[in-house]
Amino acid sequence: MNLFLEVSLSDLYNSTDTHFPEKIVRSTSVEIGDITFNFLPPSTLLIRSDAHGEGVYPLTILLNNVKKGRTTIETVTGPVKIAKINPRNGNAQVFCGCTNFAYTCNRQNDAANSLYDSSRNLRPPYIKTTNRAFLNEGNHPGLCKHLIKLVQELKNMGVLTKL
Ligand SMILES: [Zn+2]
Repeated sequence: MNLFLEVSLSDLYNSTDTHFPEKIVRSTSVEIGDITFNFLPPSTLLIRSDAHGEGVYPLTILLNNVKKGRTTIETVTGPVKIAKINPRNGNAQVFCGCTNFAYTCNRQNDAANSLYDSSRNLRPPYIKTTNRAFLNEGNHPGLCKHLIKLVQELKNMGVLTKL
C-alpha cells in the first residue's frame, strides 16, 4: 500500500477517476441536499451535506488550506470571505454514510489520513470468503459517487478552483 503524507481533495477525486471510473458515471444521478459551511479559524472549512439516493447519506468534507479572500460563503455563524480553495493543496478528510464508501474507501482513506471518522468506527480488515473480486484490490483512497457529486457542486458554486 502507498503511504501518503498528505492527500488532497484532487488526489482523492483523481484516484477515484482512475481506479473507479464507474463512480464518476453514477454520480450524475445523485441528488445533493443543502450544503452547510462551518469555518474553523484559522484555515479549516467543514462542509456538510447529504445525498439522496436509495437512502439518505450524510456527507462530510474537511479542508485545511482555506485562506481569507474575496469569495463570500454563508457559514453557520454568518458570511465569511474566503479565497477560492485550490483542491490540489492541503490535506482533505472525507466521509459518506453509504455502504460503498464503507467497503471501498474506509480503511484506505484512514491509512492516507483522509477519513473524517473515528478509527473506532473502522470496518474490520476484509477477509475473502467468496471468489468475487475485492472491491478495492489496490487499496486506493477515494470517494463514493455521493462525495464525487458534492465535490462537483462545490466547484460549480465557485468554492473550489480546478480539480
Ligand atoms: Zn456515498
